[in-house]
Amino acid sequence: MPTSRIAIFPGSFDPLTNGHVDLIRRATRLFDRVIVAVLMNPDKQPLFTADERVAMILESCAGIAAPGRIEADLFEGLLVAYAARQGACAVIRGLRSGADFDYERPMVSMNAHLAPEIETVCLLAADRYAHLSSRLVKEVAAHGGSIEGLVPETVGPRLLDRLKTETRTRS
Ligand code: ADP
Repeated sequence: MPTSRIAIFPGSFDPLTNGHVDLIRRATRLFDRVIVAVLMNPDKQPLFTADERVAMILESCAGIAAPGRIEADLFEGLLVAYAARQGACAVIRGLRSGADFDYERPMVSMNAHLAPEIETVCLLAADRYAHLSSRLVKEVAAHGGSIEGLVPETVGPRLLDRLKTETRTRS
């Protein structure tokens, strides 16, 4: 019986966008299990708590693959150490542009140095999502622009609600 091939898809997912979902869907074609891993980064001030981000990932990905093939989890510290603990053979990253490539390149090399048995698999962003980032979606929504088609249906209303609360607490 072959062992199941597990990939980790790490990121901030603050919030999950349709670009992320597209990558998760494509990764399930390559791996038996995909663990979407929300990085708990004490240096960043996220809009959503890590638990909220995990919940949105689980809800948005529920229909993509058979139960158990996509999981969501939290992690902190070294990515390759987390990946090894999960028994993963690969880390998935998305490339939208040359800037993403330049950002990933040293991390891929360092991770290969630390854990040569874990491969980083970079998937090119789909054309229709290559302009999409969590940061831009938040900016567009904060200025009243339409985010339809940019984020999953469960994410949109929560994002608008959270931005409203933020504005109220700031004023
Ligand atoms: P990070 O802080 O690790 O960049 P993000 O949540 O912004 O976290 O992104 C997680 C991963 O998803 C990264 O590899 C990023 O390049 C990729 N990604 C983000 N947006 C898109 C998109 N629109 N299409 C494809 N990949 C994307």
